[in-house]
Parts: sequence; C-alpha cells; structure tokens
Amino acid sequence: MANFNTHLTGGIISGAGASALSLFWFDMNIIQTLSIFILGAIGGILPDIDSDSGKPLNFIFSTISILIPALMLQKLNASERLSPEFMACYFVSAYIIINYLVCMFIKKLTVHRGIIHSIPFALLSGEISYLLFISSGSNFAAMVGLSVFMGCITHLIFDELNSLSFKFVFIPVLKKSSGTAFKMKSNNLYVTLLLYLLIFITTSIIFL
Ligand SMILES: [Zn+2]
Repeated sequence: MANFNTHLTGGIISGAGASALSLFWFDMNIIQTLSIFILGAIGGILPDIDSDSGKPLNFIFSTISILIPALMLQKLNASERLSPEFMACYFVSAYIIINYLVCMFIKKLTVHRGIIHSIPFALLSGEISYLLFISSGSNFAAMVGLSVFMGCITHLIFDELNSLSFKFVFIPVLKKSSGTAFKMKSNNLYVTLLLYLLIFITTSIIFL
C-alpha cells in the first residue's frame, strides 16, 4: 500500500481541485473553500482507519473526535450549548466515545484493505459529510461530500497503483494486494450488508 505522505498528497490534490471548483464555479467564500480543501485532504487518508495502528488511525480519530461533536453542537438547543458545564461533559464524553469506543469497534470489525477500502465506503463518507454540513446550504454540503468522496477514491487508486510492480523495468506485474482497494464489497457478507444498509439510510435522509 502507498504510505501516509503519498495519501496525504493525493488528498491535498483532490481537495484543491474541489475547492477550486467551489471558488470559481459556485462562488463560495474563502472559509468555505478552505474547509472543502481541508476535508478533501482528510478524505485522502480516511480509508486507512482500518490499519489498526500508526499515523493515519491516530490522526483521523483525534481529528473527528473534536470535529464531529463540534458540528453536531449546532443542532442542540442554544441555551444548553452555551453553559460551560455542558461543554465540559459534552466534549469529554464525545472524545472518549469516538476516540476509544468507536475506534475499538472499527478495529475489531474491520481488517486492513477490507470493506473500508472500497467504493461504497467512499460514497458513505461523502454522504455523511454532506449531512454534517447541510446547515450551511446544500451546495456547500454537496461540495464537502464530493471533496471527501474524491479524497477517498484517490486513496483507493493510489493503493491499487501501488499493487503494480515492474518486471524488466517496463512490464507491469500485479502484486498479491492487487484488487483489494478498488472494490464494491468485502469477503465478509455481514459487514458488506451493514455498509449498504448505512448507505441506504443516509441516502434516504438526504433525498426524503
Ligand atoms: Zn490504504
């Protein structure tokens, strides 16, 4: 598989593409454009949360442990979210739940290059990102979703390209890992069904 820096570079390139489109085509402001870029870069390393250890896992979980509760805070009652005691309970609990419990659950449920390295997971990540940012308008949320989706897809492409080695310099030969990143399902039927169920639920929330 490609390394952390390669995936981060891929995410930065696809995030830059999505943010350029947002700036010049949809006329978004500079903060919106920058956030689309940052989220695309995170999308570029997102599929490696199934790696069980190391930089990608630590970076992504510590980032989303702060980002997701902060985004969900907007949906809570204004008077509740202003009290310091609420903030202390809310952020510390959310951090523990996401960074430890959800992280442990994902480690147990997934294997490296399993279902998280797949096209449907990229789609689910894009859809969840859309829903997290919908309060800022559907155009912006769609560009965030697209940026995260493209970041994940770029990751899968880089992993697949890394599955090629060259014999006699120019003859491409497939490594054993070929085909394990850019796929529609995993070998585990239950995990695959769970992923498609989540896609069905998020798609229904978006369109209904
Ligand atoms: Zn990977």
